[in-house]
Amino acid sequence: MPTDHFSTLISNARIVVLPEDQDGASDSENIISVDVLIKDGIIERISAEGLPKTADVTIDAGTNFLLPGIIDTHTHMGDPGFPQREDFISGTEAAVAGGVTTIFEMPSSIPPASSREGFSTRLARIEGRIYANIGLYGGAGYDNTSEITAISEMGAIGFKTYLMRPPLGREKEHVGMHAFTQDQMEATFSRVSKTSKPLVVHAEDDEMVSKLSSDLVAQHKDDMASILSSRPKEAELKAVEMGVRIAQNTGAKLTIAHVSCKPVVDFLRQQKKQGANLLYAEGRPDYLLFTEEDAIRLGPKLKTFPPVRTKEDRAAIVHAINDSTIDYFGSDHAPRTKSEKESQDLWRIPAGTPSIEIMLRTLLDLVSKKLIPLSSIVGMQRRAAGIFGLGPLRGRIAVGSKADLVLIDLKVKEKIRSDNFHTKSKESATIYDDLELTGKPVMTIVNGKLVMKDNQIFKQVIGTGEFIQGKADL
Ligand SMILES: [Zn+2]
Repeated sequence: MPTDHFSTLISNARIVVLPEDQDGASDSENIISVDVLIKDGIIERISAEGLPKTADVTIDAGTNFLLPGIIDTHTHMGDPGFPQREDFISGTEAAVAGGVTTIFEMPSSIPPASSREGFSTRLARIEGRIYANIGLYGGAGYDNTSEITAISEMGAIGFKTYLMRPPLGREKEHVGMHAFTQDQMEATFSRVSKTSKPLVVHAEDDEMVSKLSSDLVAQHKDDMASILSSRPKEAELKAVEMGVRIAQNTGAKLTIAHVSCKPVVDFLRQQKKQGANLLYAEGRPDYLLFTEEDAIRLGPKLKTFPPVRTKEDRAAIVHAINDSTIDYFGSDHAPRTKSEKESQDLWRIPAGTPSIEIMLRTLLDLVSKKLIPLSSIVGMQRRAAGIFGLGPLRGRIAVGSKADLVLIDLKVKEKIRSDNFHTKSKESATIYDDLELTGKPVMTIVNGKLVMKDNQIFKQVIGTGEFIQGKADL
């Protein structure tokens, strides 16, 4: 059979039928067993009655579940700025090892993707170097508004704006992606709204955080507890409230990155109930795995912003997954080297954790604990695809969709071992060691090609990922 018509049959796959695809409401999860035939990267047939075993390759799913490949809406691979931390090759190896088939890469790095030149530098790093699909955010800030339309036309998946000033010492990586006064936000949001692309905001109030931080520095405080207290929940809520208000006035399609705490969850739920449309929220695994006590115990490797919070906040996030106040998850994978995380000045140590390999496992563990249904993970992929204009081609298991798939063993219980990770920054991933999580991805398929099996990456299929061009129409 010619290789340009390659077919794969996945037999006996258990898939979750979403409530919206079912006739009649049902409280229990609707799981069906199907055969899925993939041809030339597209799902060609799905049958509950079984399909003839005539494909080039047959994969018996056994007792495993087949999910749509995970869309990670928030990564910082940083290629080409910091090859010692990560690049698109290692970063997408880590992605597919974690069951992620599509990443949306943030604009911060050197050069930042907040100008036409910066964006095309990123774009040029993709071809032939990726195992997962990639969408690229453009930066949107008060100092690059004239670039925003052009970056959108170059195919940006969306835009990223930090509602606060750049982190100390990292100003060069962050040109063109900050807006922290009302005027700056209005100018930035209204320019992005004209592109019709989603605007992702990092929400922490600049004034509050700046004041708290400078007071603590003046008192020579340099411990993790001080870092945490410089970033209170009130600062996050204040920035979210302001962002939502300005988005409503400017028509921007707003999505709140990495919601960390109950007050923000409660506010967003209320806004959505009151009919706020074009308002979305992203969850992040670290907030489900850790609390403030862990940050103090684990130190700078768990320095991340907004910081990890409390058990009460964690419960609020679980609730928000269940009622879809949180629409989808992004890992906020932000690899840092060991020496960067061990530098002397705690205030300047770059925030971030290499989390892409534990995101899906974190959510599956919640499923095993019966805190969320498996269908919520499936639903998140469809929503992310819809919000960012990828649907119905991706984010679902359906005839005619791209074959981005992940096979899940829901039963296996293991302690996380960061030395099995694929990220170049695995020495900073030791914060995840010894977490005991149930459920893991065992096989990942991207555009119909098998890219990962049992944590092994098939290096010969490098380049199988595609550049995902953002669509301007809503
Ligand atoms: Zn981030």
